[in-house]
Amino acid sequence: MNSFIYEALPTRVVFGVGTIAQLKQEVDRLGLRRPLVLSTPQQRSQAKDIELRLDRASAGIFDGAEMHTPVEVTERALAIVRERAADGIIAVGGGSTTGLSKAIAARTGLPQIVLPTTYAGSEMTPILGETKDGLKTTRRDPKILPNVVIYDVDLTVSLPAALSATSGINALAHAAEALYGQNTNPITLLMAEEGIAALGRSLPRIVADPTDREARSDALYGAWLCGICLGTAGMALHHKLCHTLGGSFNLPHAETHTIVLPHVIAFNAPNAPDAMNRIARALGANDAIAGLNALLDQLNVVSALRDIGMPEDGIEKAADLAVANPYWNPRPIERSAILDLIRRAWAGEPASGTV
Ligand code: NAD
Repeated sequence: MNSFIYEALPTRVVFGVGTIAQLKQEVDRLGLRRPLVLSTPQQRSQAKDIELRLDRASAGIFDGAEMHTPVEVTERALAIVRERAADGIIAVGGGSTTGLSKAIAARTGLPQIVLPTTYAGSEMTPILGETKDGLKTTRRDPKILPNVVIYDVDLTVSLPAALSATSGINALAHAAEALYGQNTNPITLLMAEEGIAALGRSLPRIVADPTDREARSDALYGAWLCGICLGTAGMALHHKLCHTLGGSFNLPHAETHTIVLPHVIAFNAPNAPDAMNRIARALGANDAIAGLNALLDQLNVVSALRDIGMPEDGIEKAADLAVANPYWNPRPIERSAILDLIRRAWAGEPASGTV
């Protein structure tokens, strides 16, 4: 076995069905008297439910969380934190709401309790991506990591089937890249394989019946493991490309990941045989790309970047950006191959290992 470094990330996790009932206990455990509850406007009713459970021991609700964590939104939330003397944060929502919680914690050091409602996995990472004047920057800091995460399967049941599918593939992408990440390690490998298997078997069931709690539970467990992979292993081409595409053309996060993933896996396959064997095994397939394509077919997800708003003249620009900023990837990144990969993803052509 090669030598490695594994840095465990110290978050307390409460997992199960109906675990929101333990929120007050967790708030008391952290000694919070006036936490501010965060959500998006769409999830205000879930925030309201949390506020009621706190039995007046809260600083109220801020329901302005937005995708890509704009700094202006964080500043508005910070003004409320100060005005109401909030002593902690409770975030209920997906990666956007968790992002706002992390942005506040990064600036104030306030403790955070996160109740995830998608499979994005941000709650398991000390990473924060923020946007200012249209530019997205990312930073990593231990105080960004949430203190407590309450995974309540019930909170995910309302996530629409289509978003459940793409959010689940977004999670799977963290694990897939962790399998060949530069600083991967045997512990992360275990979680990555288990995470992919849990999502692979549960997502088709959720798409068929979004109220299937057993499948929801399996998917949330998988998403948690995949989130740990994102937090503990370096990501490569897939995440960098999705970051570039999402930031440059304002594309939806989970859909972008879903469309790009099979193309990047196919591109990296020749240089990452162990990762490919593990993906195939986790998906119960003979081959990683075939297994992934079969899963995506079952999920009925979008397959073309052009269908989610990427302009055709963006293909060249995206290829330029991808090669302009060199980063580690198991297969060296050169422009003509990346251009072909992006063009295929844009047109919705099947992933091909021959690019
Ligand atoms: P999101 O949080 O933007 O949610 C998408 C929409 O779905 C929102 O309108 C939200 O209110 C709604 N929604 C969420 N859960 C719901 C539920 N259970 N029922 C009904 N509606 C629900 O989407 P996301 O994909 O979870 O997060 C994307 C963001 O997270 C991006 O900005 C991405 O960069 C960030 N992210 C960060 C990290 C990290 O480690 N820093 C990791 C993953 C994602």
